[in-house]
Amino acid sequence: MTVEQGQSPETWLARALGSHDAETHGVVPGIHPATTFLRGGDLTYPGLVYARPANPTFATPEALLSKLEGAAESLLFGSGMAAATAVFQALQPGDHVVAPKVMYWALRRWLKQFCAHWGLGLDLVDMTDSDAIAAAVRPGRTRIVWVETPANPTWDITDLAAAADIAHRAGARLVVDNTVPTPLLTRPIEHGADIVMHAATKYLNGHSDVLMGTLSVATPDAFWQRIRGVRGDLGGIPGPFEAWLLLRGMRTLALRVDKACANAQAVAEHFHGHPRSAGILYPGLPDHPGHGIAARQMRGGFGGMLSLRVAGGEAAAVRAAARLQLWTRATSLGGVESLVEHRASVEGPDSPCPPDLLRLSCGIESAADLIADLEQALAP
Ligand SMILES: *Cc1c(COP(=O)(O)O)cnc(C)c1O
Repeated sequence: MTVEQGQSPETWLARALGSHDAETHGVVPGIHPATTFLRGGDLTYPGLVYARPANPTFATPEALLSKLEGAAESLLFGSGMAAATAVFQALQPGDHVVAPKVMYWALRRWLKQFCAHWGLGLDLVDMTDSDAIAAAVRPGRTRIVWVETPANPTWDITDLAAAADIAHRAGARLVVDNTVPTPLLTRPIEHGADIVMHAATKYLNGHSDVLMGTLSVATPDAFWQRIRGVRGDLGGIPGPFEAWLLLRGMRTLALRVDKACANAQAVAEHFHGHPRSAGILYPGLPDHPGHGIAARQMRGGFGGMLSLRVAGGEAAAVRAAARLQLWTRATSLGGVESLVEHRASVEGPDSPCPPDLLRLSCGIESAADLIADLEQALAP
């Protein structure tokens, strides 16, 4: 149930859109574990039918996300990959997809296999280069231009408005993986995107304890109904408890994102030009090639993710990661605890990730502690 909502994303988030439990008047909305719903004697359903296509516990987090993204509708999925793959499974054989060379590695790997099996055309392009996107789209055949910005793990920046324009001229949709900036820093629909995806596993939930994905749509059209059908029929949905945990996590999103951005900016500035650094990749630094576009299309910070290229190459990077005490060596990102990962050893030989790169997910600890730990780990 929704009451006074206020004007600002922080307010929508903290108050979960004013939702509460209508039955008990609890200030926290309830969890609905039922998988099946009552049917009348006349065989009609007064409400829902079955929990695979729709569950009432999804309604508030979906509404909150739609409000944040400026979207008409949103859908929760059982993981970020379940959300992303539903978009491609709604395509028809013969359709064509343009996706980034630099993007979330597991999705790029899946997409290559899936496009081959499903009879889809695929071009992987440098999404920092609008001319390269324009050269890759095939008018009338390209259905999806997929963008991630800032993009894993080098934090390449794509100009969303330019990409949307190119996609739309070719009759394609722009779909944006907005996991890293979150809707607090970037609202892709404002820049022309048609669909926005999140690995809610990351910042939206924020506590490294829920696996979930989302899609949000600017205009619910026939393609969106196909995506909804993929979710309902394939059943790639979260459980109600996970959906409830997501809403709880999202209440603190604004505070967490602010602190993660401040920590990332502090770490980036400290190690910029540092003798043990062979380069800091962070769009918040003026010498990052995407800084100008990021400053235009991101508001309130440049995100909590950055990468440090360690002087001395791969061996020095692995040694530094091994010596870290406070940063946790683990994959994933967007939690309250800072994580470090040597990405090249995860992504394998066909990855564009440099071997000397450590990916840093800044949590909400003290920036001074995070910097001191990196200093001791990088010391000769
Ligand atoms: C983690 C991640 C995904 C996949 O999400 P899962 O919940 O792990 O399936 C997709 N895109 C980005 C940018 C991610 O970081």
